[in-house]
Amino acid sequence: MTNEISHLLEIIETHRSFLLLSHVDPDGDAIGSLIAFALLIERKGKKAVAYDQDGVPEIYRFLKGCDRIVSVIPPAEHFEVAVFLECPDVRRAGTACSPFIEKIPLWVNIDHHMENSRFGHLNIIDENLSALGETLFDLYRESKEPMDSAVAEALYAAIMTDTGSFKYINTTPRAHEISAQLIRLGINPYRMYEEIFETLSRPAALIAARAHSTLEIDNGISCITITLDMFKETGSTADDTQEIVNLGRNIKDVEVALLFRETANGVKVSLRSKHNVNVNEIAVKFGGGGHLRAAGCTIEADMKHAKEMIFAAVRKALQEASGHARPNER
Ligand code: 5GP
Ligand code: MN
Repeated sequence: MTNEISHLLEIIETHRSFLLLSHVDPDGDAIGSLIAFALLIERKGKKAVAYDQDGVPEIYRFLKGCDRIVSVIPPAEHFEVAVFLECPDVRRAGTACSPFIEKIPLWVNIDHHMENSRFGHLNIIDENLSALGETLFDLYRESKEPMDSAVAEALYAAIMTDTGSFKYINTTPRAHEISAQLIRLGINPYRMYEEIFETLSRPAALIAARAHSTLEIDNGISCITITLDMFKETGSTADDTQEIVNLGRNIKDVEVALLFRETANGVKVSLRSKHNVNVNEIAVKFGGGGHLRAAGCTIEADMKHAKEMIFAAVRKALQEASGHARPNER
């Protein structure tokens, strides 16, 4: 890993203009990593455009430095290096960036998702990390650049959101150690928590209430459904739905929690598991991906068929898992 970080620092030293990209439907790790990387490049006196096709969700707009993230790449810009953050494959950055990235000669791929296709010229992939924010932390440490409060906030937000506030299985000692160092730099953990998790907008609260009322529970599987009509009725957007799957996940005896969200081009599925189902494997079967216990995919079908396909795959996985559940996983 240190070698790869040194290689990356060498690339940063020897190039002048960088396009930083993260995935569609960005989460706190995507946004935090974009901000931290952009600030490092700027500190080195180089040009960075940080881009996310879907822009910055409202709950992350308090982060200093988030105004650097654009959702449209300035057409006249030319870049020497593309840096993909949190993208297991190029498609995950969305389609709008394709004309730009095809012209960029050097691609760096930095990720912690399980199915990363190692599509970069330099690939820095570690699926054991709690969040990609950890790699950005290492990058700052190796570069000897000081972390100011904007960087510390961005990295704390990255780790806090990807670990579900330090409670999921990916919450490692190192995630806590890095977070402790960020707190020593002046981060206020409660303020961060409050900004991200306790500032639901009215539409976000209304869509959560509507969505929760669709909850179904069946043989270890919970299912919540969000339709396009519900967005219209509540004035909410997809950004407002990121936490909704957790109600299903918090139910006793539920092993797999599913959220089906209708979109203009299919059904977005969020999958969560607790102990013994590899939801990444299921999402990959449908062209998506993620992590062992949290994954997602989009199915180009109507709600009924999307549910049939996913439920069949989840039931099969549960059956297989019940054959070899490890007692120490419980
Ligand atoms: P969520 O269900 O919250 O959208 O995503 C859970 C995890 O799965 C995140 O790590 C996210 O990046 C990943 N994920 C969600 N949807 C997709 C997808 O369509 N493709 C891939 N490769 N990963 C996804
Ligand atoms: Mn992440």
